Amino acid sequence: MTKRFGVLLGLGLVLGAGVVIGLGYDDTPFYPGSKWRVHDGTRPQPPVVTPGPAVSVAPPSDAVVLFDGTNTDAWRAGDGKPCTFKVADGAMTVGGGDAWTKQSFGDCQLHVEWSSPNPPNGTDQGRGNSGVFLCGDYEIQVLDCYENKTYADGMAAAIYGQFPPLANVCRKPGEWNSYDILWTAPRFKGEAGNEVETPAYFTVLFNGVVVHNHTAPKGPMRFRALSQYQRHDVKGPIHIQDHGNPVRYRNIWVRELKGYDEG
Ligand code: MG
Repeated sequence: MTKRFGVLLGLGLVLGAGVVIGLGYDDTPFYPGSKWRVHDGTRPQPPVVTPGPAVSVAPPSDAVVLFDGTNTDAWRAGDGKPCTFKVADGAMTVGGGDAWTKQSFGDCQLHVEWSSPNPPNGTDQGRGNSGVFLCGDYEIQVLDCYENKTYADGMAAAIYGQFPPLANVCRKPGEWNSYDILWTAPRFKGEAGNEVETPAYFTVLFNGVVVHNHTAPKGPMRFRALSQYQRHDVKGPIHIQDHGNPVRYRNIWVRELKGYDEG
C-alpha cells in the first residue's frame, strides 16, 4: 500500500485551488471513464458550505422509529447479539462493533443525526469516522470533516469510495449534524446473476443541503477497489459502522417509500 506523499500525511497541506496533498491513494484503480482513482487524493475538495441553525426533525406519524434516545431495542450486533452501543443523554455512542437494524428496509427515507467527538481526536479518516449503510452495504460516510482534510470520496456524506458530497456542510465537533437520505434499492434482472435492471439511487441532504441528487452508486461500498453490483434482496438492514471512534447518534427514523397510488 503506497500512500501519496505519505510523509506529509496528516499535515493537511493545501495547494492552490483546494487540491490537498498527503491524502488518499495513488495506486488504486481508476473508475471507468473517470480521471479519478478510488480515494484519489488529488480529486477536488467540495466547497465548504456553512449550514443554517440545526433543526432536529421529529419523526412523522408513519415513521419506524429506530432510535428515540432511550434504548437500542431496534438494533442488534453483527453476530445477532444485543447492540453494543451505549445509550446516555438521549444519544447512543458507537462502540463494541457495528450495529444493524433488526428490521429490513427497501426504498426508504432515512433521517439520522450524528455528532463527532469533542474535542476532536485524530486526523484524516481517523477523526470521527463511522458510516450509515443502506441495504447493509451501501455507505454514506460519517466523518468529522470540520477543518479536517481527507480524500474527497471519503468525506462526510460521501457515497464512500465513489462520489464526494457536492458540499462540505459539516458542523463543528460535538454539534449535531443531520442526514436525510432517500434510498432506492437496486433491482436485478431475472432470477439469478448480478446484472442490474435499475441501479441503486441516493439523494442525500446534509444539514439541509443537497449533497447527492439522484446519484446512482456503482455498487456497494468498497475500500481501495472498484465496486460492482452483486445480487441481493430489495430489502436489507440499515447498519451503523464502528470505525473505532465514539461517534454519537440520535433521532433515527425511517419511512418506507412507495410509488404513486400505492398507498
Ligand atoms: Mg466510515
